[in-house]
Amino acid sequence: MTQKVALVTGGTGGIGTAICQSLVKSGYRVVAGYNRGGDHEQARAWQAAQREQGFEIDISYGDVTDFRSCAICIADVKEKTRSNISVLVNNAGITRDTQFKKMDQDDWRDVITTNLDSVYNMTRQVINDMISDGYGRIVNISSVNGQKGQFGQTNYSAAKAGLHGFTKALAQEVARKGITVNTLSPGYVLTPMVAKIAPEIQQKIIDGIPVGRMGTVEEIAAAVAYLTSPDSGYITGSNLAINGGQHMY
Ligand code: NDP
Repeated sequence: MTQKVALVTGGTGGIGTAICQSLVKSGYRVVAGYNRGGDHEQARAWQAAQREQGFEIDISYGDVTDFRSCAICIADVKEKTRSNISVLVNNAGITRDTQFKKMDQDDWRDVITTNLDSVYNMTRQVINDMISDGYGRIVNISSVNGQKGQFGQTNYSAAKAGLHGFTKALAQEVARKGITVNTLSPGYVLTPMVAKIAPEIQQKIIDGIPVGRMGTVEEIAAAVAYLTSPDSGYITGSNLAINGGQHMY
């Protein structure tokens, strides 16, 4: 059987790297989408480091905020792998935290574009192949803060909440085509994104998590592996919350 292809946006980031590794372990041919501000050398260094650890992962450049750039990225993935994409993990994201009363238009737009428009930009360009193939797995990485809101994150909470509506609507449209669409909402995971939060605030966050710690990238990646596996075909339009009990619903 030919290896199915999985594309992970933000694949060279904190959670993205763990997702790529876990999908390799699951037997996929994995491509990590990267941006790195156009620093291709840095991405190649990441790829070499993965290889040293035993993970063979392709890389493909793309700016998820730009529809045309996503089209080029997807064409590149299809050319490299000589295959359609069966698994898409929309994982790329950014934060620009500030209270709404001080939030400028760039802080708003950049976060909405990177976290939400990106999902349109990528998914729109793989969905017809998945429909033709009669198979697909799409996982959109949302956030606990898209479920409960977060002080200083009106932009991020709005974008991540938007993913839930997108997921549930698309899941209905493609359910009969063998395609599942789900969101996964991590709580706090110590990656470069969270490392930007001041240590005293990080401690306050941990104090509010029933499990008493932040999550690990491996815990998120294991759940992505399940949602992207052929075994998960009856789960669609769902949200899987992985937050140590920080938000229960
Ligand atoms: P990182 O900052 O480590 O990774 C974010 C990734 O997004 C990077 O690989 C980055 O690519 C990519 N990215 C950003 N902008 C663009 C762009 N314009 N085009 C292409 N790629 C882009 O953060 P995490 O690993 O923590 O976050 C991964 C996802 O998980 C995000 O969606 C985040 O919102 C979500 N999340 C994270 C939580 C956490 O606690 N860490 C909690 C809840 C959700 P590059 O480096 O190549 O530029």
